[in-house]
Amino acid sequence: RAKQEGRNNYRFFTAEMQATSSRNLQLVNALRYALERNQLSLHYQPQVSLHQNCVIGTEALLRWHHPELGSISPAEFIPIAEDSGLIISIGEWVLRQAVKQAKLWMEEGHAPLIMAVNISAIQFRHPDLPNLVTQILEEIGLAPEYLELELTEGVAMYDPQAAIEMMNNLHELGIRVSIDDFGTGYSSLSYLKKFKVYKLKIDQSFVRDISTDPEDKAIVSAIISMSKSLGLQTIAEGVETVEQLTYLRAQGCDEVQGYFYSKPMPAEQAEEYFREFKLR
Ligand code: C2E
Ligand code: MG
Ligand code: MG
Ligand code: MG
Repeated sequence: RAKQEGRNNYRFFTAEMQATSSRNLQLVNALRYALERNQLSLHYQPQVSLHQNCVIGTEALLRWHHPELGSISPAEFIPIAEDSGLIISIGEWVLRQAVKQAKLWMEEGHAPLIMAVNISAIQFRHPDLPNLVTQILEEIGLAPEYLELELTEGVAMYDPQAAIEMMNNLHELGIRVSIDDFGTGYSSLSYLKKFKVYKLKIDQSFVRDISTDPEDKAIVSAIISMSKSLGLQTIAEGVETVEQLTYLRAQGCDEVQGYFYSKPMPAEQAEEYFREFKLR
């Protein structure tokens, strides 16, 4: 009987796998046309400075609304875009769109915001990235210090030597680099001083239970004090409650981002938010 159950489980598992891969195939094909068909858009989530008591930046987050399949999460389609190589053209679109928006907000008289853009592994390994970014900034007329590129630890650590070179190139161009989801990868701390990064984004998994879990408290506080010693900025991701905010502020965290202040929003809504922002 055990054997039979085992076989059934196996059969069930492969059927599920097949369903996953046929959905992936459907998504690759759909994604190929999503750009041309205007199904992709960016949402913007404010980043709040706890020292300056204002919104000092915003992260651009990609959204895909498919007419039949509905909204598809970037957690699902970004890996598919990477595997299929589509991330190169999608990533370029994201960069251009985010830089255009930053420029527009500046022209409309908003206080300058740093626009943070997520960069995938494949984009970061592409030797042309610095040229592409420079070209987009020049074409749109935005100063490089208003652009920040977010890399995950995994992306930076895949080939640390190449990452150091790429970060140096970007740094020379005046572009900021931050480490996303910090603490979830396996970056060797000795690389942190070699990487030209200016900010660590504390992963939301440590922030979630920060008010109740002494270990998460200790980890977050250690990341913040290490960052201070290294001269790096810190931003906590996924801040949802006033208790989390209070702890982070007491630890000297520089910035926060999360639903407590706002979910990611379409551009017009974000603009209104920046105008009416009040620190809580
Ligand atoms: P990420 O860059 O770490 O972005 C943070 C994610 O947490 C976003 O999910 C955001 O909506 C969500 N989030 C923000 N505040 C809160 C909060 O208070 N609570 C909770 N539970 N979640 C919060 P999203 O937009 O679904 O994006 C998921 C991931 O997809 C991003 O993680 C990023 O790795 C990737 N991604 C999104 N846009 C792009 C893009 O344009 N290019 C690339 N390469 N990756 C992208
Ligand atoms: Mg990010
Ligand atoms: Mg993150
Ligand atoms: Mg993430």
